[in-house]
Amino acid sequence: MNRELMIIDGERTASSGGKFIPVETPAKRGTIIAEVPRATEVDVDRAVKAAAKAFVDWKRMAPRDRGKLMLKIADDMEVQSEDLAKTLSLETGNAIRTQSRGEIALAADLFRFYGGVASEQKGETVPLGEQILCYSRREPIGVVAGIIPWNSPVLLGALKIAMSLPVGNTMVLKPATDAPLAVLKMVSICNAHLPQGVLNAVTGSGSECGTMLASHPDVRKLSLTGSTEVGRIIMAIAADRIVPVTLELGGKNPQIVFPDANDDHVIQSVINGMRFTRQGQSCTAGSRLFLHSSIFDSFVEKMVKKLRALKIGDPLDEGTDVGAIINKAQFEKVCAYVRDGIGQKGSKLVTGGIPPDEGPLAQGYFMEPTVLTHVKNEWRVAREEIFGPVLVVIPWESEEEAIRMANDTHYGLAAYVYSHDIGKALRTAHAIEAGWVQVNQGLGIVPGTSYGGFKQSGIGREYSLEGMLDSYTQRKCVTVNLQY
Ligand code: NDP
Repeated sequence: MNRELMIIDGERTASSGGKFIPVETPAKRGTIIAEVPRATEVDVDRAVKAAAKAFVDWKRMAPRDRGKLMLKIADDMEVQSEDLAKTLSLETGNAIRTQSRGEIALAADLFRFYGGVASEQKGETVPLGEQILCYSRREPIGVVAGIIPWNSPVLLGALKIAMSLPVGNTMVLKPATDAPLAVLKMVSICNAHLPQGVLNAVTGSGSECGTMLASHPDVRKLSLTGSTEVGRIIMAIAADRIVPVTLELGGKNPQIVFPDANDDHVIQSVINGMRFTRQGQSCTAGSRLFLHSSIFDSFVEKMVKKLRALKIGDPLDEGTDVGAIINKAQFEKVCAYVRDGIGQKGSKLVTGGIPPDEGPLAQGYFMEPTVLTHVKNEWRVAREEIFGPVLVVIPWESEEEAIRMANDTHYGLAAYVYSHDIGKALRTAHAIEAGWVQVNQGLGIVPGTSYGGFKQSGIGREYSLEGMLDSYTQRKCVTVNLQY
């Protein structure tokens, strides 16, 4: 059996309890591809203590020197990118051509971006008069606990590492049980360039390993990307010890199409925005499509034609566009939402739906892109994050009505607006309650841009320079009496 081990204090480490957790590939039901250690409290404690010890010297290193190590990690990740992408596709079910290669490239790019701006960890001077020198420093916080989900594990792991380490923090990272393999490989690559103990990785379930890590008294900052539900748990743990949190949580993101935008570019952008080629398993998936009623039928018809042309199947096949849903529980949850949506009076299933239980696709957790039209914004399928390839389409008549429905959600992560009328598009972008609005495109995040949620989609910002400075450093003010 293939085993990936944890990395604690620079060493590949099994669990002190001797137990392992299996990792299944979603493309072939019941097929175990590897196992990872089930960390005990002793392991988590060792990892945090190693990070705390390493912090003493790491924080004293010049930011530019730390940054240079990030650049080396980026280079090395690129050298090993194909192996990382294959591992990632096997464990997540994401298609290698449309998803995994791009994810590894973006992860390497994040190391390069944050390595390059490390010396921006600057303070300010405050003019208090000739007799006083007052300046601020941006100091690291200490040991960061990074907890990440399974949907883009390498990207999100790279993000936590690349934002925390250049400014002098050390880290213990916990990947999701469903997708720990490529993350552990990435942490190994990082460790080849970092001093011992600066970056550690522990594996185990969230309720066990995650709780132990978040509750460890020597952890000084909690950074979670995951569901809003787990965000609440992490915030409660943080409240107990008064430690800062960064929470990147769920979304139920609107895509608003104006009547003048019924064209091929917009249809493709809506499909991209819905992240159909990631089986809709993205926090930024634009899963509520608000179509103006005058273009409703023709837009849906053209979109469905494009969706039916997507090839679903083996994530490692170069011809595959759409891979598999992560696991059985998630697959069944998505099917239950589809059943619920179909059962609502007036809804119409225009493509996809509950997958057949035999045939080649039934061998894995595969589901065709699914579109439900004439949905009401108050139905469960329109309110709850499905985290699967299910797009709900809602008609609208007035701009005001579209904005009201788009904002009628407890989430506020991302949004998409499509119109040639830039005034209308920007008016709408400004009126939407979301941390990231794209106009006339449905692309992924780019390093350097500010990213994070409004409302229950999260707290804090990532991907940007100011995200690193605000979320992963703390300011100290020094006031000096020059007359003494
Ligand atoms: P979960 O919230 O279930 O899990 C996220 C991580 O938290 C996993 O590592 C999980 O461990 C861990 N965890 C679970 N319970 C606890 C606990 N009690 N204490 C500490 N850690 C815990 O999310 P999923 O993995 O299912 O990922 C999907 C979610 O992530 C969606 O809601 C999605 O929107 C969100 N997400 C948000 C993003 C953003 O940038 N805003 C980006 C990507 C995803 P384990 O899995 O091992 O149980």
